[in-house]
Parts: sequence; C-alpha cells; structure tokens
Amino acid sequence: MIESLSHHLLERCSLRTGPSCEDPKFVLHWIRAALRFEENPTFDVARLIANQMGLPLLVYHGIDERYPHASYRHHKFLLEGARDLEKEAADMGVDYLLHVSRKGHRQPVLKLLSEDAAVIVTDLVDLDPWSDWSDAIAKMRTLIEVDAHCVLPRQVFGRSVDRPFKFKNSTKRMVNARKGVNWPVCDVPITRMSELYDPPFAPVSAHRELERDGGVQLLSQCEIDPTVMPVTDVCGGTKFAKRKWENYVENGLKRYHRTRNDASNRDGVSGISPWLHYGMIAATKVVREAIDTGGKGADKFLDEMLIFREQAYHHCHELQSPRDWSSLPEWARISWRERIQPMVNKKERDLETGDTGDSLWDSAQMGLVRHGVMHNNVRMTWGKGVARWIQDPNSAMNITQCLNDRYALDGRDPNSIAGVMWCYGLFDRPFDPPSDYMGRIRRRSTEGHASRLDMKRYRDWVGAPTNGRIMDIGIVGSGISGMFAGQILSRLGHKVTIYDKGWRPSGRLAYRQTEDGSMFSIGSINMDGSRNWMNRFQWDLGNSAKPFKNFLDELSKDQEVNYNTRIVGVKEDAQGVLLWGSSDSQEVQFNHSRVIVAVPIEQATRLLEEGVLSGESAPYWVAWGPGHEGSDSLPEGWSIRNVGNGTIELRLDPNSSEEHINRTKDEMASLIPTKAGFSPVGWSSHLWRYGRPISGPARVVHHGRIAFIGDAFGTPLGTIGAALDSAARAVADLHLMRGWNDEIDAVKSRQSNLMDW
Ligand SMILES: Cc1cc2nc3c(=O)[nH]c(=O)nc-3n(C[C@H](O)[C@H](O)[C@H](O)COP(=O)(O)OP(=O)(O)OC[C@H]3O[C@@H](n4cnc5c(N)ncnc54)[C@H](O)[C@@H]3O)c2cc1C
Repeated sequence: MIESLSHHLLERCSLRTGPSCEDPKFVLHWIRAALRFEENPTFDVARLIANQMGLPLLVYHGIDERYPHASYRHHKFLLEGARDLEKEAADMGVDYLLHVSRKGHRQPVLKLLSEDAAVIVTDLVDLDPWSDWSDAIAKMRTLIEVDAHCVLPRQVFGRSVDRPFKFKNSTKRMVNARKGVNWPVCDVPITRMSELYDPPFAPVSAHRELERDGGVQLLSQCEIDPTVMPVTDVCGGTKFAKRKWENYVENGLKRYHRTRNDASNRDGVSGISPWLHYGMIAATKVVREAIDTGGKGADKFLDEMLIFREQAYHHCHELQSPRDWSSLPEWARISWRERIQPMVNKKERDLETGDTGDSLWDSAQMGLVRHGVMHNNVRMTWGKGVARWIQDPNSAMNITQCLNDRYALDGRDPNSIAGVMWCYGLFDRPFDPPSDYMGRIRRRSTEGHASRLDMKRYRDWVGAPTNGRIMDIGIVGSGISGMFAGQILSRLGHKVTIYDKGWRPSGRLAYRQTEDGSMFSIGSINMDGSRNWMNRFQWDLGNSAKPFKNFLDELSKDQEVNYNTRIVGVKEDAQGVLLWGSSDSQEVQFNHSRVIVAVPIEQATRLLEEGVLSGESAPYWVAWGPGHEGSDSLPEGWSIRNVGNGTIELRLDPNSSEEHINRTKDEMASLIPTKAGFSPVGWSSHLWRYGRPISGPARVVHHGRIAFIGDAFGTPLGTIGAALDSAARAVADLHLMRGWNDEIDAVKSRQSNLMDW
C-alpha cells in the first residue's frame, strides 16, 4: 500500500496493518496534532492512497475533551485552527468534518468512521494518550502514522541521544540531506464523498461557532477546564501562523543571535512554537525559510529547530514514558538524591498563582497564566526555580511540567517535556563542585537572571491583562461563585469590585460558632458536582468542622468587597452597566464596563426586567442549639447532626420547610428543637428561603454585558460544583467574546512568546 509512495513520504510512514474493510467507502485522514494541509505529509499520504485505491478522501478532525489539561485555552486555539482548515478544505474541494466532543455528542466517532474506512492515515504523536489511541485504532483498521512534525523523520533516526552536540553529530548527514529542500507538491485528484454520505455525528463548523459568539455556546457544552483562560492576544490556525512567521523572518530573524536571550524584548524571538506544536505551520517550511534568510541570527535559530527541538522529538519517540523521573541521566538522579534539601517548602497553589515572592519567577508565571507563553530563556530559570521550593525533586519536576502543560500554548509537546526535564539534568552534563539545593545540576538563579533583565519592561508585557486591556467588572454577590469569579479576574489583571448585602463572604456557605467558639456550617456541608479541575482549588476542604471557611478565606485574599450593599437593579447604559441600590441606608449607584450577577436565581430575576430569567429554589429551615444526644423520633424530612461541643443542628427538608415558610426565626428556634425533643433554651434558627434551585437555566446566561452565574447557572443544579463551574465559564466567556479580528491583527502579530527550548 505505501510502497509506491515517493521516498520523502515513505520514510515518514509507520504502517500498522490491521483488519481490512470489506466494503470501504473512503480513506480517512485523521487530523490529530498537525492542523494544516500545506506541506503536510499526512495529508499527502492520505490523498495519494485514496487516489491509488480509487476511493474518496475524508478528512476527520476531532477535538476531544480527554487530552491532558483540556481547557478553554487549548480548545479555543484548536477551534481557530479548525476554522482555517474548514476554509482551506472548501477551497481545495476536500471533505473536512470536525467533531467536537461535548454533552450529547460523545459517541466513539473514530471507531464508527473506521468501520467504513479502507485505511486510516494520521500524524504520528508519541505521547499518551494519543499513542494509546493509535494502538486501539490499529486493532480495528490498518493505520499509517506519518511524521508531520520533524525535519528528520522519527522513523529514520528515532533515538534518544544524551547531549545536543552528540545528536547534532549523529544526525548531521541525515539532516543536511533534508533541510531546506522544497516540499514536493502533491496534486493528485481527490474524489469527493458521495452527497448521500451521512456521517455518524453532527459536524461542527468552527467558522460559524466562532463568528456567532467566539465559541461561547459550543464550549459551554464541553467538560474542560474553564479556569485556563482563552488567550486573545494571538490566534490559532495556519493563517495567523504564516503571518506571524513571515513577520518574524522580515523583521526579527536576522537579529535573533543578539536578541534571543533578552526576555524583556518580546519581539526578540519568533514565538512560533505554539503553531509548531499544533502543526499549524510545517517545521520543514520554517527551517527552509530560515536557511534562505541566512546569517548569524538564522544560524542560531536553526540550532534551536534542528538540534534542540528535533532531539526532543526523537527522544520521546524512543522512550516509552519520556516524562518519567527514570529518564533523567543516572548522575542527575543520584545528585538529586544527595542534594541539600531546600529550607523553604512552598505550596503548589502559591506557585500556580505566582505568589512565591520571587520577582522574576512570579512574573514569568504571571505571563504564562495570562498569555499562555513564557520566553524560552526565562523558562529555563523558571523550571529550575521550582526545585528550590519543593523538597522532593521528582514532585518539583512534575509540578513544573504540569504548570507548563496546563498554561503554555506549546505545552504537552516533546519539546516542552525535554525543556522541563533539561532543568533537572536531561541532555546536560554535571557541574562540579555541587551547589546547595541544585547539587551537580546546572544552576540558574532567578536573582542573577533578574539582575541582567530590564524587569520593568519584562513585567510590562507579562503583566498586561489577559484580553489586551483592563476590564472593569462589578460582581453582585460574595458567595462562592462571585468570589471565585472575582479572584480569577483579578489574577488576570482586571479591576474587580464586589458588592454584597451581607457582612462577610459566605452566602449559602455561612457558618456559626458554638458556645466555645468553634465553627460549623449552617448551609452546605458537602461539595457536590465537583469536576477534576476543581481539585486544585479545594483548599483544606477536609476539615469537616468548618468545611468552606479556608476556601472562602483563600478566595477573599486581595479582593475588594463592599459589604452591606444591597443591589436592587441592573441595566446596560451608555457607559456600560449600571447597578443601583443602597448601602448603609444611602442610595448608591455604580458603573462598570461589565457586571456578573452571582446571587440565587429568584434574587437575580428580580434585578432585571421580567422575562430574562426564570427558575425556582427550594427552602431549608436550619436550627441549632445546646443538646447532646440524638433524638430517635424526628418528624419525617428532618435530619439531625451533632456539630460538637454540645451543639446540635437540625435541618428540615424542602417539603417540611415549606410547611413553615411564613414563620419567624424566633418561632422556629422554639418549634424545631421542641418537636425534636430538646429544650429550646439557647436555640437559633435560619431560613434559607432560596436554599437550592430546583429549576433554572443550568448554564451561564449572558444578557448583553451582564452575566449570571451561581448554582442555578451550572450543573448539577444546586451544587457548589455548578456555582464554581459557572463562575469560571463566565470569565472564560468574557475572553472568548473579545476574540480576534483583522483590525487588531497587526498589533497581535507583534506579540511574541516562546521560542523552542
Ligand atoms: C441548607 C443547604 C444545604 C446545601 N447542601 C449542599 C450540598 O450538600 N452539596 C452542594 O454541593 N451544595 C449544597 N448546597 C448549595 C450550595 O451551598 C450553593 O450551591 C452555593 O453555596 C451557592 O453559592 P453562590 O455563590 O452561587 O450563591 P450564594 O452562596 O447564595 O451567594 C450569593 C450572595 O449574594 C448576596 N446577595 C444576594 N442578593 C443580593 C443583592 N441583591 N445585593 C447584594 N448582594 C446580594 C448574598 O448575601 C450572598 O452572599 C446547600 C445549600 C443549602 C442552603
């Protein structure tokens, strides 16, 4: 099948013969990590084989929720890539179908497509879970994996070499034979799919989704991490990649040898690595054009592309588990074992939020979180910095990898794996005599690096707010959803003001104190509706006595909340959004460019004109007071809890609470304990009139520049999971809606980010 391919394609193919299809309807090009048609060997191979077999060619592109660190950031970049593919496919007359896995659309599409495919051709990805997916598909159908990422095909060399100079020497002849060569044009005719073909899924038009609302509606159905914000200062796709690269060739490449180490100069590096990572631009093209440019700058750049980048790809090709600690050189592992333990142990969340107190490290982390990029030179210092604060070096390396993969647009790549591991000794040599916490591993101190850097200039660009400008956001409600949205927004550099009618952040996570001062919750005592991404935000949830106190304290850090401020109306006006109400008996008005309303559904409904929102909550009466023993004869629908220190709490379910909905707190503070067999002396009660929603939109609602979040605006209704999820999605939506357009393209194409390690 592949024997007749010309040499430049054949050498990039790994054939895995599987069961044949009795009645094939097409050859399938499965796009994974090479999102382009131009200079794409995978596409050429699929096209040639389809032509050879006399079958139509179907290009299938799936955006899954299961890739590591799946997030709004990566999904948006992928969707933008898909938009260009859609256009290019239409221009070429190729059938291109995009599937976005989401609620109601999680069928095993590839398995279903493979039933009708003569053969599946895909780009070679050596990392999990893609390699596992390849194994599974190869059992169903013949699979051809094509190297679409390297200049020197991994099938030709594909070995791990311990030092860059050795890799250079071992591959020099092979690379020389391939670099700079024009990519042969493949123009064999393509047979279109029958018009009657009915795909096993509803294809998505990325163009239409992005045009309509920047992808808000589509992504709202995907179970992905909404706290990793879409980046709006660059755009995914071949069009942007090409323009960015051309701009760099014209204006920067010649000076690369002089500018590449200065992280404060964001135009000093190409920043093309995210597009290389997603295969939106061919490495063969980038290398060829750098050779054509020539000069010292291009030579240095070619070292990055042909030595460091390719070494990482070949390394990951050979190793089964390249991320493992065991793939570090032995001298490095011994050195780490013997190193002097660092004195300071930082929490992972302080690293993630850039709160270590180290100016350079925190700035670098801020840039990563806000813009999805980190300058290559700073990234080396940043990666090594973590080892200073985490006692177990393996954990330090994993944390670094995780932060990089979660936030960097070029993360989850052989290049970033090798980059992070280089910080821990991979591809490097020992340095003697050993130093304190780095042992024999090459040192790079953040202080030393900062002293060589124009820190002001560096901070100016990494600290620029996500979305290009500071948004002024008002938030109504300091419950968990309002506080969470506020914290995410402030960390992204926006101005946030929170209003609450109460006197401290809590809402339905309110807590009270027993006689001896210990705390217990009178609202939620559990967290339901949790998603995987929420694990890293659940600070100290394990403490059942005050389950959410620490969480709320954490969310309150550095947040401006106007307490005792009741908002009674919200509407859009010429300035943005107007809020009005009262604060300490005074009438007040506030203007913001956008507002997020984070209050229970009924209260939200009352703030707006009629008809925009609807939903209903169930009430809960709660009473607490002195008592020791549990009562055996509680009325139906009542529950009892010993909250310790001689305090008992009684809760009535919504039906029982409804029966007493018009009673006062004093009446219930007597009635509830008495009916449960306790003396009412010293008892108190609280009515959660809007305790937990039983109906509501179950998704974030945007009404012009006003967004509604909370436990009625997410799923499962009435859970903390829904409240947190809706908060993060609303913030992500603000970034999606801004999006990218040609007007600001000129500015954006100047943005630089990572160079290859
Ligand atoms: C008794 C009970 C048991 C529960 N059990 C569970 C459980 O087991 N598991 C689970 O996951 N969830 C449970 N929940 C639900 C959970 O507590 C909520 O989903 C979550 O706390 C909602 O947070 P929020 O920020 O959306 O809203 P809230 O916590 O209600 O916060 C809204 C805030 O807005 C303020 N506010 C309201 N109106 C205005 C206004 N007009 N102006 C200014 N401020 C205003 C309020 O003062 C409040 O601080 C329970 C809730 C109750 C009441």
